[in-house]
Amino acid sequence: MQKKFHFRNVIILVIVSFYITSIYAGSPHPKTLKKPKNIIFLIGDGMGTAQIYAALTIQKDKLNIAKFKVVGFHKTYSANDFITDSAAGATAFSTGNKTKNGYLAVDTNKKVLPTILELAEEKGLSTGLVASCAITHATPAAFIAHESSRDNYEDIAPWFLKTDIDVFIGGGKKYFENRTDKRNLSDSLRKRNYQIIYNLDDLYTITKDKVAGLLYNNHPPSILEGRGKMLEKSSTKAISILEKNKKGFFMMIEGSQIDWACHSNAEDTLISEMIDFDNVVGMVLEYAKKNGETLVVVTGDHETGGYTLPNNNIKDGKLKGKFSTANHTAVMVPVFAYGPGAEEFMGFMENTDIFFKFRKLLLGY
Ligand code: MG
Ligand code: ZN
Repeated sequence: MQKKFHFRNVIILVIVSFYITSIYAGSPHPKTLKKPKNIIFLIGDGMGTAQIYAALTIQKDKLNIAKFKVVGFHKTYSANDFITDSAAGATAFSTGNKTKNGYLAVDTNKKVLPTILELAEEKGLSTGLVASCAITHATPAAFIAHESSRDNYEDIAPWFLKTDIDVFIGGGKKYFENRTDKRNLSDSLRKRNYQIIYNLDDLYTITKDKVAGLLYNNHPPSILEGRGKMLEKSSTKAISILEKNKKGFFMMIEGSQIDWACHSNAEDTLISEMIDFDNVVGMVLEYAKKNGETLVVVTGDHETGGYTLPNNNIKDGKLKGKFSTANHTAVMVPVFAYGPGAEEFMGFMENTDIFFKFRKLLLGY
């Protein structure tokens, strides 16, 4: 009797271990690594579920974002509003704090909050920011600047000299070089051994490991106005510089103009910006697959436009959506993750949780 009982336990144990192994074999990270060496964080500004599904429909069911196996949702509300703006939204990701709309990496009392980029830099990792807007605009700025107004671009630009960021590429040259205080911040950057580049072709002349890409005087044009592969090429180059650091890197890439298209209720612009962003996601996923030590997280800071898709056809790629507002909305936003640590991003979370997960996985606390 006693012997039989033991035998049954062994059988159960074998079945359970086979079950666990099979779950593990299908797990979304390529190796059995738990902690990533690098994090690439992609933010589609204003990108909610309908924006993603619109791109999926236009692409006849083929989208890089649709390849992720780990999906969660986050709550986007800010400290003082049911509906966040991009400054408070990015501050939640960059610092783990809900702040007031308009604030960049400061709390509701305007106290400076360290960002994940600054903390990574302190630990000796390389860091980068790439955006399809002026690099001083709210989303990238919340990772490096500490200001209580997102609108003072000339006050935001000097923060790029206060952190030892390795690569930043976007627009916004005039906030560095044509300032009311007559300072030339690019000269100061050169003194710190940065190579300054002013157009996309200059990407291929880069010899230094510190790069400031000020590719447009203010914002880059939209895709429909001729931005081309600016975001993908800049991000690819930035990764190739950052990955030289044996300790790892943190970088944020923003598809900035999805939001602007939705504010204008311009569906064609929205679709082209979504596809541009998805192409960058595809490039990053390819990199992460080969690299094996990189966590990729894709999300939006909030939804814009109250966009919805009443009557479409995914097989024909036909689409005509509807916007219900010219502003942001409060709906929850999806989070997608791939690579070591990806499972952390399953389920329903606060936008601020993304910071704490990044810090724990990348910096160990
Ligand atoms: Mg933005
Ligand atoms: Zn917006």
